[in-house]
Amino acid sequence: MGQVGEKEPMAAGSYWEATAGPIKEDRQLVGDARFDVAIIGAGYTGLSAALKLASSGVSVCLLDARRAGWGASGRNGGFCCFGGTKRSYPDLVRHYGLEETKRFVAYQCEAMELVGERLQSWQVDAARHSRGEVYLAHRPKDFEGFKAEAEYLNSSFGLGARVLNKEEAAKRGLAGPEFHGAMHVPQGFALHPLRYVQALADKVRSLGARVFAHSEVTGMKREGADWRLVTRLGSVRAPRVLLAGNAYSREGAPAWLSGRLLPVMSSIMVTRPLTDDELSEQGWTSGLMASDTRTLLHYFRLMPDRRFLFGTRGGVFESAEALKAMYARGRADFERMFPAWTLVDTEYAWHGHVALSRSRAAFTGPVPGMEGVFASLAYHGSGVAMASLCGEKAGGMILGEVKPQDLPAVIGTVPRRFPLAGLRQLYLLGAYGWYGLKDR
Ligand SMILES: Cc1cc2nc3c(=O)[nH]c(=O)nc-3n(C[C@H](O)[C@H](O)[C@H](O)COP(=O)(O)OP(=O)(O)OC[C@H]3O[C@@H](n4cnc5c(N)ncnc54)[C@H](O)[C@@H]3O)c2cc1C
Repeated sequence: MGQVGEKEPMAAGSYWEATAGPIKEDRQLVGDARFDVAIIGAGYTGLSAALKLASSGVSVCLLDARRAGWGASGRNGGFCCFGGTKRSYPDLVRHYGLEETKRFVAYQCEAMELVGERLQSWQVDAARHSRGEVYLAHRPKDFEGFKAEAEYLNSSFGLGARVLNKEEAAKRGLAGPEFHGAMHVPQGFALHPLRYVQALADKVRSLGARVFAHSEVTGMKREGADWRLVTRLGSVRAPRVLLAGNAYSREGAPAWLSGRLLPVMSSIMVTRPLTDDELSEQGWTSGLMASDTRTLLHYFRLMPDRRFLFGTRGGVFESAEALKAMYARGRADFERMFPAWTLVDTEYAWHGHVALSRSRAAFTGPVPGMEGVFASLAYHGSGVAMASLCGEKAGGMILGEVKPQDLPAVIGTVPRRFPLAGLRQLYLLGAYGWYGLKDR
């Protein structure tokens, strides 16, 4: 997790880790073992696949380089929301047609419902709040676009989007100098992401799946009908394998993964609890999860314990200096957008990686040219819901119950390699510069 710089002496790593309760450490894989299915990565994707498989009586193991939920699943903003692509709906309609795009929208709604059902049926204390999500126009011209966008979302997909002008938004506790109006969609909610992934891991363990921590898969090779997955102190043989490492995947394990994902950093800070006076002084009293209309967006929410969570894009490099600059930039954005809270301390700050693909959409399906191998990844920064459902569907594919064509075509495009993949981080530098200018 990220270390914070001298400017934030109070900040102490992840708020989720500080409040999740005991974090279970599974044993490391030592020696050789055989399972029906081996899953690389124990986040929402891998665990959801394991849940499906173990529920059907299949012997399954998860191998994680660190531990269950250590990756993005245990460190995200907790927005259980629409996601899985950076493409706009009109763009998807042009490419896939209206019916396929409708299927994709319905799939995202199903994904959010799945998470809600899991939390409820397992009675997870996940600090759930927020009825839907609100998008805030950071420029007057973005607000102008909201009316047509809401009409489009409602007439094409029946989402029930509503537009609030600046005054109406302020009345509902959504005020700030950079907010020029809002669009609300009723789908989605916010949760404690680490408690959710821990509950998922507990469920998977209780069904007999094995979770191995500190067991990074460094290579994969074919042996007869099986794949052998090699870790530092052992190996697993299995005829079926799921690649679920997402942004934390190791390049080259397997070789197919090389150059196909673009990991991008995102950083989060959490303040101390805010008082009633501080909330009304800022004009932000709403418990809705929110994001602004920038391409390099900010996401934020007032949590049930009245701490404010504020997320923003990370940097490109991970040196101590670069991380310090990244946290300082996030804090400066927070103070500009919520000026009444300039003196409110950041108590927690951390960062993690999301994964992008060239098609700018998630992928769930069989890996071409690798018999028995499946992948589910690239949720484009919104995987709480999508990784949960895509993981479950990947488990269904491994069982033969789900066919690739049963999923929306939007998530069926195999990620292509980035050209000059070694320079991917430089693309980001260029993109940040360009979008930073466009967002003004
Ligand atoms: C800061 C941040 C904020 C975010 N906010 C949101 C949000 O608010 N809402 C939302 O919907 N999404 C959000 N996301 C994205 C979301 O968290 C991810 O899309 C989702 O968690 C992906 O789940 P996953 O299981 O695919 O991957 P991960 O949870 O990243 O799990 C991958 C696991 O694979 C392991 N692994 C990788 N390679 C290997 C290997 N070779 N051998 C063994 N183990 C390996 C890693 O150790 C890791 O534990 C955010 C992400 C970040 C980083």
